Amino acid sequence: MAVRHESFLAQVEATFDRAAALTKHDPALLRQIRECNSVYHFTFPVRKDDGSLETFHGWRAQHSQHKLPTKGGIRFAMDVTEDEVMALAALMTYKCAIVDVPFGGAKGGVKMDRSKYSTSELERITRRYAFELARKNFIGPGLDVPAPDYGTTSREMGWIADTYGQMNPGDLNALACVTAKPLALGGVRGRTEATGLGVFFGLREACSDTALMAQFKLSLGIAGKRVVVQGLGNVGFYTAKYLAEHGAILVGLCEREGTLHAKDGLDLHAVRAHRAATGSMVGFPGATFLPSPAEGLELDCDILVPAALENVITIENAPRIKAVMIGEAANGPVTAAADAMLRARGKLMIPDLFLNSGGVTVSYFEWLKNLEHVRFGRMQAGGDEETVVKTGLETTMVKAYADIAETAQRLSLGGDLRIAAFVSSIDKIATCYSESGIWP
Ligand code: NAD
Repeated sequence: MAVRHESFLAQVEATFDRAAALTKHDPALLRQIRECNSVYHFTFPVRKDDGSLETFHGWRAQHSQHKLPTKGGIRFAMDVTEDEVMALAALMTYKCAIVDVPFGGAKGGVKMDRSKYSTSELERITRRYAFELARKNFIGPGLDVPAPDYGTTSREMGWIADTYGQMNPGDLNALACVTAKPLALGGVRGRTEATGLGVFFGLREACSDTALMAQFKLSLGIAGKRVVVQGLGNVGFYTAKYLAEHGAILVGLCEREGTLHAKDGLDLHAVRAHRAATGSMVGFPGATFLPSPAEGLELDCDILVPAALENVITIENAPRIKAVMIGEAANGPVTAAADAMLRARGKLMIPDLFLNSGGVTVSYFEWLKNLEHVRFGRMQAGGDEETVVKTGLETTMVKAYADIAETAQRLSLGGDLRIAAFVSSIDKIATCYSESGIWP
């Protein structure tokens, strides 16, 4: 049966409204926090290798400028729309607030199938997109700082930094206009694994919460938990790696071609090596292969970690989800309707806006490093850059979880950590407005 999805932005706004109703802030202030401040939609031509011209649609949304710069990734994908860019920009605002990263939220994208373009065409598309952003003040170290998302990597961030640098000669801080850059261009050690490591820290904190684990009839700790991870890309791979290193049993791994299932656990590195050698998980020894990637979501396990795409859990498959805890490593993997259904079925949702905030946290560290013009650890005792970054990330995730748990307890929200996370975020943004005297 086909399932109609509410618009992504409508879902984010509906969750915001539910959380806002639990706060005592001025309704006018809540409206100011909720609305997207600016969206820029533009088209631009790029010459292809065969000499022809193609016109592309690009967007950048800046949801909130209560703190500057704004921050958020850039997607190159066919399903990029204004609605999606605005929804993701709003989530970035709330995400940054939760982890006390002093940025507003933004998001950008180009509607395109990146697999159809050569490297030189991708470079021209990326540079032209960056040029268009710069022309309208939609990029800059103190204005708006992009990062990678679907279809973009540190290579594209390098092209963006270089384009911005060419347009701003002599600007010492130009490299801080974008994050997740290659190390040689001012990137920071630990950024590649940051989101997955943050997901691990977030799940570890939830699994150490005695009251929460008792409420959902789960044992304390990560060790021994049976886990299924969907997506073995950047976020999924590192999440699975850190969970396994801390004693979790990887009973299922799902990728585009299907699902690998083994009750006694899968060796992540062996699966990755097999996939790299053969191009798929088919034929991996000692495990069952299910040709449907979606079936993996329904495996019997303690923790399900969707780490690939949006809207993978809907009201269609939510009734069949067996996991007790769902850790949203991807952005928006569970629709609002499915979230309600899963909570009614007694499932514990660890929300994306908290759980995958490790990426933006370490991007913040990279931005600081670029403005300081010195590698972390170089001028102080206390460890090399990677150690400083990972310790900072751990401290951040521990504090953010404590804030969310305190909010959940204060408002008697039971296990609804998504609403607790939104309330915690709204409170922090409202405090920023009121303490700065902007809002009476
Ligand atoms: P990625 O492209 O590195 O990985 C995605 C993986 O999902 C790929 O390996 C892909 O083959 C797999 N996949 C695609 N369709 C699938 C399907 N139907 N079933 C199973 N697997 C499938 O992307 P990523 O950077 O790991 O991002 C994943 C999610 O996490 C996205 O929602 C992204 O917005 C979110 N996120 C990423 C970061 C980050 O720092 N990379 C930060 C926060 C949130």
